[in-house]
Amino acid sequence: KKIIITIDGYSSCGKSTLAKQLAKQLGYVYIDSGAMYRAITLYFIQNRVDWADTKAVKAALKNVTLEFNPNPVTGQSEMYLNGENVEHFIREMIVAEKVSEVAAVKEVREFAVAQQQQMGNKKGLVMDGRDIGTVVFPQAELKIFMTAEPAIRVERRFKELYAKNKHVTIEEVKENLELRDYIDANREISPLRKAEDAIILDNSQLSMGDQLELVMQWVEDAIMA
Ligand code: C5P
Repeated sequence: KKIIITIDGYSSCGKSTLAKQLAKQLGYVYIDSGAMYRAITLYFIQNRVDWADTKAVKAALKNVTLEFNPNPVTGQSEMYLNGENVEHFIREMIVAEKVSEVAAVKEVREFAVAQQQQMGNKKGLVMDGRDIGTVVFPQAELKIFMTAEPAIRVERRFKELYAKNKHVTIEEVKENLELRDYIDANREISPLRKAEDAIILDNSQLSMGDQLELVMQWVEDAIMA
């Protein structure tokens, strides 16, 4: 039996790292729902779409096609916006600074959620995000809510971004995480919440191996249930 696994939580808790490993180990599909919000944000920035203007948002979304395609070398899934690989651009600070505002727009969420739900048809899926266990797949067999100490999250994200761009500062990363978490947890539509039936995973002190071992046990239990 193949199941749906949802992983939600605040920014930079290590959701995608765990989700990728888990999908690999299980032979499941991994979908990074945040990448979809980031790609929509990139499109809005590039095309000067005012996301406070509902009409403009609706019109713009008609021109947005999102796809995940595997990297030919690593096999890892990458985000494509209107046929173009945007995996690199969507991780930049300029997108990170605006993505939570864009993700709070009702039409944007409806657009993204509908596509995410379609991807669940195949089963055997790991999807990470903010509302996957609560809104996208409330019926998922295994729901995980990840947390980690704020200082650890800032450090992890800083290291990741610094490796690609030496101009980034730790203060800037800290501010961005706090801002996104605040907007994500306080928006009107689908705010970030732990699903009632989600299991909490605090990975502040856990290695990747520890986490996988723990979660693989939960997966087995969920499959048997
Ligand atoms: O997961 P990641 O940090 O890349 O997500 C970027 C942003 O996209 C989040 O801060 C949040 O505003 C939004 N998001 C969301 N719902 C999801 C996934 C991401 O609102 N399911």
